[in-house]
Amino acid sequence: MPDQSAQKSAHDADVLIIGGGPAGSTLAALLAARGKSAVVLEKDRHPRFHIGESLLPFNVPLFERLGVLDEIRRIGMPKFGIEFVSPHHERPSLLEFAGSWHKEQDCAFQVRRSDFDLVLLRNASAKGARVFEECRVTEVAFPTGGGVCATSVDTDGATREWHARFLVDASGRDTFMAGRQNLKQRNKRHASAAIFGHFTSAERLPGRAAGNISIFWFAKGWFWFIPLADGTTSIGAVCRPETFKARESDVTAFLMELIATCPALAARLKNAALTGPATGTGNYSYDCTSMVGDRYLMVGDAAGFIDPVFSTGVYLAMHGAFVAADAVTTSLDQPARAAAALRDYERDCRKKLARFSWFIYRITSPAIRGLFMAPRNYLRVEEAVLALLSGDVDARSPIRSRLLLFKLLYYFGTGFDKLRDALLRPSAALRVRS
Ligand SMILES: Cc1cc2nc3c(=O)[nH]c(=O)nc-3n(C[C@H](O)[C@H](O)[C@H](O)COP(=O)(O)OP(=O)(O)OC[C@H]3O[C@@H](n4cnc5c(N)ncnc54)[C@H](O)[C@@H]3O)c2cc1C
Repeated sequence: MPDQSAQKSAHDADVLIIGGGPAGSTLAALLAARGKSAVVLEKDRHPRFHIGESLLPFNVPLFERLGVLDEIRRIGMPKFGIEFVSPHHERPSLLEFAGSWHKEQDCAFQVRRSDFDLVLLRNASAKGARVFEECRVTEVAFPTGGGVCATSVDTDGATREWHARFLVDASGRDTFMAGRQNLKQRNKRHASAAIFGHFTSAERLPGRAAGNISIFWFAKGWFWFIPLADGTTSIGAVCRPETFKARESDVTAFLMELIATCPALAARLKNAALTGPATGTGNYSYDCTSMVGDRYLMVGDAAGFIDPVFSTGVYLAMHGAFVAADAVTTSLDQPARAAAALRDYERDCRKKLARFSWFIYRITSPAIRGLFMAPRNYLRVEEAVLALLSGDVDARSPIRSRLLLFKLLYYFGTGFDKLRDALLRPSAALRVRS
């Protein structure tokens, strides 16, 4: 419960949002535009560093709807596709979004998250949301009489008390509500961790492809290569958490050691220099047993995160905020329908996470690598996979049957490999004799 001795300053709102990242800022802007009073409490002061710099083409319509597209264009590096580089294939594979099912959505952006998150937070404020930075939420309570009250602490130690009708947890990987309610669980199918840094003078792809993301597979996982508009390039290694736990050097030296094991990436970085020490982040694959409750919901990373490989985090956070805006509005305006609206919201979030997760869980498997390195557009399967990589997670999308076909090709490929291994492997009896 909020501390009664705290210095009190009551603030009332329809909706209290914990966190001013992409999820919280998007939701605040949408609710304010609908005439709801929204308060965002953000523990940091923007602009602040955040990882997660590569966006998807399906982000772009969301920027348009928020009215921030011109500003994102100004700060962003245009990204027209994805380059996959594998040590087991002679040539890289370049997939362009223009070749996807949705030809018109041919471009996304790479952004410095400090600039990007600031644009979204300012937009929320411009739309009428009240934003309080350097204000960390420390406690929340749901009184029996209704509503929610929360306590926050400013950087100078002053506490404040807040009252609202509804709470949104958009606290990202801090998972404020899930942590307090014991709802957070490690992803049982996937575990990975990352170390990353920013480089000057990395060699980019030529021409229009200069802003593309590159994914380099290597023995221990994969690297991202994200070119930013200011000339620097974000490089990150994603591996099993055990790989990082076993390291004997510091994080920066270890990143350089890993890069040296990936000749294709090392060649692109031969004239490059780190702009500062590398950073590490531990296993980040988790979800929550529940994403909603009486008078609250979680959105974005606060509800779950799997892996950065397809650059889906910011898109899912913003798209989730659009869906959440309806659930919150229903909860405020039609309380009798609140529980159903929140259940629908959670179902939608889980389905969208699941659409990407099948691919994410298999990203380092040779069969998936083979399909990405030598894509074939039989029956428009490649167009459908590209549409998914662009962010098409719509349940009614025409790409769904083609994705099923892609999965069948995958299972056929892995089944064939297993059969071949079984037939070619000498039997135990033969091994004993030889
Ligand atoms: C290694 C790595 C690489 C990634 N790369 C990509 C990528 O290339 N593309 C992509 O789309 N995604 C990527 N992601 C994922 C992406 O970073 C997140 O999915 C995205 O930031 C989620 O947005 P959000 O608003 O939910 O959370 P966040 O962006 O984390 O925002 C949460 C906000 O809440 C604030 N907060 C937390 N607790 C409190 C509190 N108690 N009180 C007040 N404020 C609080 C935080 O300060 C923060 O500003 C990556 C993730 C990782 C781990």
